[in-house]
Amino acid sequence: MRKLNKGEIPAVLAENVEWWTEEFVADPENHTKRYRYRHPEIKAALLKETAGKCVYCESKVGHNTPGDTEHKIPSSEDNTLHFSWTNLTIACSECNRRKNDYFRPSMPFLDPYVDDVESVLVHLGPIVGWKPGYQRAEITIRTLELHSGARRELISRKIERLEELSELLERLASSSCDELMGLLLTKRLEEMKSPDAEYSGMVMAACAAVER
Ligand SMILES: [Zn+2]
Repeated sequence: MRKLNKGEIPAVLAENVEWWTEEFVADPENHTKRYRYRHPEIKAALLKETAGKCVYCESKVGHNTPGDTEHKIPSSEDNTLHFSWTNLTIACSECNRRKNDYFRPSMPFLDPYVDDVESVLVHLGPIVGWKPGYQRAEITIRTLELHSGARRELISRKIERLEELSELLERLASSSCDELMGLLLTKRLEEMKSPDAEYSGMVMAACAAVER
């Protein structure tokens, strides 16, 4: 999970949010009225601000990891937020399914747009833990099962990334690495650490551990 900034509200949502909400609240089972947030402009804006990643597990959403629009506060709790720009984001189907309708005002889920998530989460290899005592971080990670082997596919993709990182760091440190190769490897390392890159939170933590 990386810290995120909310982008600007897409024009189509700004112009229509009031009547879309009124129609949805009055007739929540109507498919057309319910799924207007799937408008391509809205989806594109959400994918841009999340770098095309699930905001919880940092998997790129797409062919291998399906993902969709996520309501941070579920519509079952507050249907007036169904089209609220600040309530919409992107989650993969695995995180979405686990979060489901989780909503506890006394113990809210971590919100990567609001909370300093990077200071309360810890990356232990491919799994994610939390700083002891941070209950909101704990409940978020436990609900998403990012701390356990239950997310087998995710963990195996993250291990592949760590293997690439390990090889990259080894080659960079090697005396046989010439200048051009060094530049190419350094460029790849910077790409892997970029906030837009898949699992970059884990990569940053692994690099920091190696540098210690
Ligand atoms: Zn996810």
